[in-house]
Amino acid sequence: MSKGFFGHPAGLSTLFFTEMWERFSYYGMRAILILFMTASVAEKGLGIDPQNAGAIYGLYTASVYLLSLPGGWLADNVFGQRKAVWYGGIFIMIGHLILAIPGNVPIFVLGLAFVAMGTGMLKPNISTMVGDLYPEGGVRRDQGFSVFYMGINLGSFLGQIIVPLLASYNWHMGFGVAAIGMFFGLLQYKLTQGNLHELGIKTKLKEEKDEGVIMGKSNRTLAIIFTIGLIGILFLLNYYKVIDLSTFVGVAQGVGIIIAAVTFFYLLYIIVAGGLNVVEKKRVLVIFFLFVGAVLFWSGFEQAGSSLNLFAQDFTDRRIGSWEMPAGMLQSVNALAIILFAPIVGWIWVKLAAKNLNPNTPIKFGIGLIMMGLGFVVMYFAAQIAAAGTMAGMGWLWFTYFLHSIGELTLSPVGLSATTKLSPKRYTGQLMGIWFVGTALGNLVAGLFAGGVDVKNPSQMPPLFMSVVIFGVVSGLLFFLFSPILKKWMGDVK
Ligand code: GLN
Repeated sequence: MSKGFFGHPAGLSTLFFTEMWERFSYYGMRAILILFMTASVAEKGLGIDPQNAGAIYGLYTASVYLLSLPGGWLADNVFGQRKAVWYGGIFIMIGHLILAIPGNVPIFVLGLAFVAMGTGMLKPNISTMVGDLYPEGGVRRDQGFSVFYMGINLGSFLGQIIVPLLASYNWHMGFGVAAIGMFFGLLQYKLTQGNLHELGIKTKLKEEKDEGVIMGKSNRTLAIIFTIGLIGILFLLNYYKVIDLSTFVGVAQGVGIIIAAVTFFYLLYIIVAGGLNVVEKKRVLVIFFLFVGAVLFWSGFEQAGSSLNLFAQDFTDRRIGSWEMPAGMLQSVNALAIILFAPIVGWIWVKLAAKNLNPNTPIKFGIGLIMMGLGFVVMYFAAQIAAAGTMAGMGWLWFTYFLHSIGELTLSPVGLSATTKLSPKRYTGQLMGIWFVGTALGNLVAGLFAGGVDVKNPSQMPPLFMSVVIFGVVSGLLFFLFSPILKKWMGDVK
């Protein structure tokens, strides 16, 4: 290999900077998304109410993660990762360019659709290439991913500073700079692709075929009946006015119900009829619980771009001297905290492991969920200040984001690696997909929460945030309580 990158293959540098620019555009744009949607037409926004704006936010961010399923498939079977990342980046750039055109809601939705499709193509496949840089796997690969995670957060940090800053002058300049960021990413990718050698060129010739749920005739009938049933249920819910499918909120709720039901029955099906032995069945059951934990965690965490972003705008005193910080900038604390604390948290695990005290995966999930809940305890108090009619200081959100970042570092990497290790080999691809579906569902719920942060009705915030505290802390405690059983089911997977 040519020149290295922090002692790693030079290819890591290419992937690091491509992902950095992609995350710059993704998180930069996300930082202004809900603010742009809820800004009145006089403020050159779209004038959408917080409920529906939150639902669009949820549908968009959920699509980004859901589309990584077809994105991964297309790379594996049609394009190879190398081209998938390239085309994905182009779609993302076009999406941000469309958003940079002052237009109407349909044009705006078209822009979002392009970004979502592009991200679905780029994000899973660039990660696959990082993994493939280290065919030997092991600690080197883990270290490679840690370096890569720094790229992710460096990009998000810069994006969340620069995009909101420009958007405070003109929304479309914000979207435009996100497009420029992705352009730099693409340029860099093209110019340094020599570093990647043969990586991601060929579509995968899978040795261990991911057969997954084999679609026999009876299974197909079952799937069709299931789909019709699910659509029927949605229409009944709509008919009896439980959900209103003529609004974005109703559509988001409907999509959430579909995702949750499909995942549940899919996992149930694998466990019951997937031809697994007892040990494998127990492991898939553990994946199910980790999935639920992940959904709950991201439902709180991903409010950074939705409810907490609105809180930053409408209820937070953002003045520093004579300057007022743009609201979207505040969420950059998360990326900064990850950059600063990832090495420390990593070091703590290593130290504990040396003493044989390293907490197991369910315990780490418990800690992550409790951190998320504690973050919302902070927001509960901040919301009371706001509900009483005064502006809250910025410290409240900073502290919340700090706690959430520690939670992210505890839960997210172990969730990802535990899923790979717990999956029976022939289901790995699909079960990794399920992990992303968890993030999608969490994002969807996080969007729906934004409806509760409304300048017109600040008194609904404290109970709303308290509800997040309760489900975060209670589910965290349940993970603690059941960790011995889950650990037993995990068997020798560490
Ligand atoms: N911040 C990380 C990324 O963008 C993880 C986000 C997530 O999984 N929700 O890759």
